[in-house]
Amino acid sequence: KVVSPSSYRISRILSVLLPARAPYWRTACSTAITMRWDCSVEVLNAAEAPPFPVNERADQVAENTRLQYRYLDIRRERMQRNIRLRASVNSAIRRAMEEQGFVEVETPMLVPSTPEGAREFIVPSRQQPGSFYALPQSPQLFKQLLMVAGIDRYYQIARCLRDEDLRADRQYEFMQLDAEMSFVSQDDVHRAIGNAVVAAARAAGQEPGEIVKITWHEAMNRFGVDKPDLRFGIELTELTDVFAGTEFKAFAGAACIKGINAVGKADDYGRNKLDAMTYKAKKMGAKGLVWLKVTADGFDSPVAKFLSETESAALRSTFNAVAGDLILIVADEWMTPCEVLGQLRNDIGRPPVHEGPYRYLWVVDFPLFEWNEEEKRWDAEHHPFTMPHHEDIPLLDTDPGKVRALCYDLVCNGLEMASGSIRIHRSDIQAKVFNLLGISEEDQSDRFGHILDAFAYGAPPHGGIA
Ligand code: ASP
Repeated sequence: KVVSPSSYRISRILSVLLPARAPYWRTACSTAITMRWDCSVEVLNAAEAPPFPVNERADQVAENTRLQYRYLDIRRERMQRNIRLRASVNSAIRRAMEEQGFVEVETPMLVPSTPEGAREFIVPSRQQPGSFYALPQSPQLFKQLLMVAGIDRYYQIARCLRDEDLRADRQYEFMQLDAEMSFVSQDDVHRAIGNAVVAAARAAGQEPGEIVKITWHEAMNRFGVDKPDLRFGIELTELTDVFAGTEFKAFAGAACIKGINAVGKADDYGRNKLDAMTYKAKKMGAKGLVWLKVTADGFDSPVAKFLSETESAALRSTFNAVAGDLILIVADEWMTPCEVLGQLRNDIGRPPVHEGPYRYLWVVDFPLFEWNEEEKRWDAEHHPFTMPHHEDIPLLDTDPGKVRALCYDLVCNGLEMASGSIRIHRSDIQAKVFNLLGISEEDQSDRFGHILDAFAYGAPPHGGIA
């Protein structure tokens, strides 16, 4: 019952020295010390005063300092929590994958160059001067070889290395859940990965709702991006018909006219902000951006006088617009209004990324190719092994730009979480795709010879994701 001043000091010292990672030990010690105030303390090792407080106040410390003393930074409760959370998520993923019959295989780190398109890190070979290993940008080729090898449900939490510019969600080295399955449709892949994602989300304390599915075309059409954030409205609306016979020059004859209604935002956007938005729209390729602030009796907008009464009324009713709303319109070929308004929609309405609820979706049916205007050739949208949609195979000969791919992304709150495809397992289709991508026969055997050889021995239909 007697608490001595020195035991109080000791328990304070213990709480500094033994942070969250040893909570039981800390409680046990201070209890022991409180009860037996005559106990002695043995110093196991003397320590310097840390260069910053080992608590939440370290969040204010310069990041470089935290990184230099990472071992002290990680003593903090928040960092401890993050690392433990990551471990629980990985463990939940492993359990979910194993329960579904997936086999974990670790693929090599010193590899020949792989053809996925990211810049690779290379390692000089000591034994063969002048030759280099690549570090894997992903285990793509290995997992496809594993399908030929009969490991028909493979997974790995794989380390990948890409020598690409840093971004908020991208660094040189990262881990991904990497999986591949034989004899599957894309729905089978979605189901298996959906189960792992739900398990991972639950391990992180989230309860994700249903994972909905939309096509790439619908995503672009309604949200203007291929990774839509479903947490807010402001959907893109088709206005081409509204302005079908218009005399307003900026809209007349346009292939596609689309708009968004930023409900109640008119007052938030003064002249400077609207100019900045217009500048951004033009930088993205639009000829201009039309803005209209909805007022009680019409529009406050430099273009209001060019719209007929019927057009103005149709515009209001299409958007159910009321005073205080802000309508933005772009007219051009289909892709430009989509992309420009998609960006503006995100700028205007997107909540901070960590804010729930968590809205997951699959985006499917991406185009197989993307036209590279600079190089005047087709690029693979995903990678050269992506299977075209069965119905679209004839279009490879006639209209490659229209071919849809059996390719899919998992998106959460506007972020791409995963990406994958059903692969080409037939050499005739593969040859056609290589030709369209402008990869010569010599290049094909140089770069992909090992996988093409393997495919000659009965590659099963397969697909995967990471
Ligand atoms: N290899 C791809 C990637 O790392 C994913 C996949 O297609 O499975 O992004």
